[in-house]
Amino acid sequence: MATPTGSALMERLVSLCKRRGFIFQSSEIYGGINGFWDYGPLGVELKNNLRDVWWDSMIHHPPAGPDGRPVEIVGLDCSIISHPRVWEASGHLAGFADPMQTCRHCKRLFRADHVAELLGESDWVAAVLAVCEPGAVAGTHVPRRTELKRWAETRGKKLAPGLAIVREPGLIARINEDAHDVPMLLTILSSSGPPVTEVRLPCPNCGGDLTEPRQFNLMFETWVGAVRDEESKAYLRPETAQGMFYNFKNVIDSTRVKVPFGICQIGRSFRNEVTPRNYIFRSREFEQMELEFFVHPSEADTWYRYWRQTRFDWWCNLGLAGKNLRLRDHEEDELAHYAKDSGGCCDVEYAFPFSGEKGFTELEGIAYRSDFDLRQHQRVSGVKLEYFDAERNERYLPHVIEPAAGLTRGVLAVLCEAYTMDESRPSPELMRFHPHLSPIKAGVFPLVNKEGMPEIGERIYQELRRRVGSCQYDAKQSIGKRYARMDEAGTPFCITVDGQTLTDQTVTVRDRDTGAQVRVAADQVTGYIAERVG
Ligand code: ATP
Repeated sequence: MATPTGSALMERLVSLCKRRGFIFQSSEIYGGINGFWDYGPLGVELKNNLRDVWWDSMIHHPPAGPDGRPVEIVGLDCSIISHPRVWEASGHLAGFADPMQTCRHCKRLFRADHVAELLGESDWVAAVLAVCEPGAVAGTHVPRRTELKRWAETRGKKLAPGLAIVREPGLIARINEDAHDVPMLLTILSSSGPPVTEVRLPCPNCGGDLTEPRQFNLMFETWVGAVRDEESKAYLRPETAQGMFYNFKNVIDSTRVKVPFGICQIGRSFRNEVTPRNYIFRSREFEQMELEFFVHPSEADTWYRYWRQTRFDWWCNLGLAGKNLRLRDHEEDELAHYAKDSGGCCDVEYAFPFSGEKGFTELEGIAYRSDFDLRQHQRVSGVKLEYFDAERNERYLPHVIEPAAGLTRGVLAVLCEAYTMDESRPSPELMRFHPHLSPIKAGVFPLVNKEGMPEIGERIYQELRRRVGSCQYDAKQSIGKRYARMDEAGTPFCITVDGQTLTDQTVTVRDRDTGAQVRVAADQVTGYIAERVG
């Protein structure tokens, strides 16, 4: 069986992630909580590895700049709750909202721009289309009154209790048997009023009537201190970026950085997403890896192009290269207000199995933010944030290029890319992680638990742990089952101590991707592995 795609791939991946301890639903024993996830023993290693590779590529080993000179970036770790005026300055209090619709029947909430997509995945829509006849034009359907009535009085009651023709089957007599596309057909079936002229989509859950879209602020609110009033209201940060802006002056005053330079941080962000979905892709609590790179306005374009390419190359180097990754420049109407007049905005996009018709969805955004954020914080706080550039003898507000990536969304892309089916293996499923990212770098097995093999195995295991970190010693069950466990965990190498080891002091090293085995001297195997996973 070939590696599945689409929803079949997601189903298998989610099941493997739970079974092998990558990702669990948060508070599962209480029925879970929508939009929150826990990372298990393998998942936390994978996530931390991705985090560390990013941090290293920013702070310790950034590539040379556009002029070949070293790039300077420093790190921060800011509090999750900050002064509420931060969000006034950033625009989140006024504008960080999604249009939301509520179902009048089942009371569920939906993001208005997700309703059409959710209807495409809905069971009741599939069922109602199945009782209509295909129209002459592709994509159209003809509602047949007799079949619709039978459906509304039987299956429809269970699948779409909120749909107008289910609640009032008498309405069906008024329906013309003309062909319609899906949005118009659903509008007709969900309308109990006069003949419809424009599309008005029903609830993806029950077919009920949806309210007009209302703006819904995505920030989680809390109160600081003992009194709960407007004065003590605060917010869980919806992005990590603002910490870099409100600390700009602190960093300038406490370090020797000079423009151009960057400030970055990795941390948790919180968004009360109306429809958290697609596993960890859109969660209510997630982690971001963000860089704010401060430049002289005249150099913004050069640095924007530099970061656009550098960030795309970074994901490619982690094994996401190929048909599943692309760099897409934003259309004019997608650009954020601050990016409109200059520079640009682009996304690194990945072909997630649920990306649907679009084919790709955002993994990281790279935006030219001009001096918007520093100017706003300067205005709202009243503190001067201008930078004095001694080389240019000029005082100005630096402009900013922001590569903003999702760490947890990155983990999902890495999981999707790694998942492979291979029926010829002891385990038909294996995870082909880049060795830097693999949660376990090597497995060590004694072939049998006697003749001194466990002692040699344990010695190698201890040495390996010291040198390359996370490794696993496994002496249980057949060697095939042990390989299978390591393949599912995405371990790139397995070392077996066997009979031959006792005579010539060599061990077998098996490569996860090719299954090929080579013999390596037992006293050199640690170096052999370190070289390949380091
Ligand atoms: P989206 O359009 O998917 O809602 P966004 O454009 O609002 O994302 P940004 O504010 O630019 O996202 O955040 C930067 C990155 O943070 C995104 O590219 C994504 O990887 C990650 N991210 C944003 N929202 C979520 C979320 N709800 N769950 C997981 N990751 C997220």
